[in-house]
Amino acid sequence: MAAAEEVKFSLKVVMIKGRNKVLYAEIDSDFADVILSFLTFPLGTIARLFIKHYGNTPILGSLNSLYAGLFNLDGSHFGTEAGRLMLLNPRNASQFLCSTLKLQIDDTPPIKFFACRTHKCVSVYYKMRCLCPDSTINEIWIDDFFQYLFRSGNGSVFTAKTTTFVLTDDLEMLINSPASIFQILRRNFIEDANTLEEKTLIVGLKEIMELLKASLVSKTPLTDMVLPTRTMAATLDGRTKYIAPAKYESDALPRTRTQTSQNMSSNSKKINVKAFVQKSSSRVLLAQSRHDFIDFLFSMLTIPLGRVQFLLGENTCGGSIHNLYRSISNSETANYMKATTRLLEPLLPQGYLSLNRIFSLKEELPPSHYKGILGPLPIPAKSWIDPKGKGSFVKEARTLFVVTDDLVVSTPSSISIISTLNQMKIPISDVEERELGIGMEEASSILQASLTSTYALTNGLKPFLKRQPKQEK
Ligand SMILES: [Zn+2]
Repeated sequence: MAAAEEVKFSLKVVMIKGRNKVLYAEIDSDFADVILSFLTFPLGTIARLFIKHYGNTPILGSLNSLYAGLFNLDGSHFGTEAGRLMLLNPRNASQFLCSTLKLQIDDTPPIKFFACRTHKCVSVYYKMRCLCPDSTINEIWIDDFFQYLFRSGNGSVFTAKTTTFVLTDDLEMLINSPASIFQILRRNFIEDANTLEEKTLIVGLKEIMELLKASLVSKTPLTDMVLPTRTMAATLDGRTKYIAPAKYESDALPRTRTQTSQNMSSNSKKINVKAFVQKSSSRVLLAQSRHDFIDFLFSMLTIPLGRVQFLLGENTCGGSIHNLYRSISNSETANYMKATTRLLEPLLPQGYLSLNRIFSLKEELPPSHYKGILGPLPIPAKSWIDPKGKGSFVKEARTLFVVTDDLVVSTPSSISIISTLNQMKIPISDVEERELGIGMEEASSILQASLTSTYALTNGLKPFLKRQPKQEK
């Protein structure tokens, strides 16, 4: 396979003359597969790729700072080193499928399996020590895994191989047909085809990264990919804004699929958090919590983008990715697609489900066989070692953690509360403490705010701060 930097796609783009605006692009199945694969990326992979390509500038709400805090947090707070690495390099449950994409922008190391020599304790991703007498650990090959890889080896991943699609500026994907083109023209009130011009563009890794970024922050991602100088302004604008969203005015949360359809009852447990709130502005300055809330926050990085769409419903972030998501279930387009469940309801990879989860999430079943010399050998379910240790990434302990508004997690010793208050020029009398229980509604609100704002706690907790009575001291 060619290095990511060398892969190029040729796109025919239709632009509106004199307006610097892309109307749509004609894309082949290879290109369609690449952009659809965005939905399989865990949020932490997206954060890591943004840091790699664009540095520490916050692009997608508070995700970069959440990731950076994870990176800097001392390893002793995690159940295992493997668990810490699993968060830093979250796996994509569809990684084996995506390994056949024409261009891979995700450079997460491939999934590996290991077993000890005596009793075949099996671990995934990283070598896990076991207690067997001869605990020499070797990599094993998983049979099912490679069969799957082989089956999907015809180069087509999520779309039918020879199909071409049209992709609108806001990422609606339609079958390339006269009906689709007329639909786009009418919708944009284009009367005269003379006002349009066609261009052929060669795009590669850099442009696809721009498209990933713009798909999450912009309403015109294709235009932004073609004319990247425009995105800069849009992104800068997006990150400096203090989003005190009007949608919370009624105190009603946006109705999400999670709330309407499933599993509201399965999460009666609430995680306790103490928030320090500036009274005059209702801004959450800091939150204080135990390991369970931190585990929940870090686990957000493991959720695939498609699953985030599924959990939060429409307008998950400020971008256009929801249009792509919705196109997949469009019946006409769906006829030319496969493995759509991996895009619409992607699972967590094996071993990623944490005890402290709040959202209703599922993980992939572990492979049932590994490849022995004489043929496949079964892996009994009880052989699997939990790579996290005891069910959660962050170790259960008496440790207190501090979380900033933009979700940087640290320990109280590594953050100076006094200098933080000084920097923010906030008088002590203007700060009050609020106890909050984080359940499904609160968690959904924090997840949504983390994708759109660097004031994730303020915006995420705002509706709940109003509801709960003030704690008088
Ligand atoms: Zn063992």
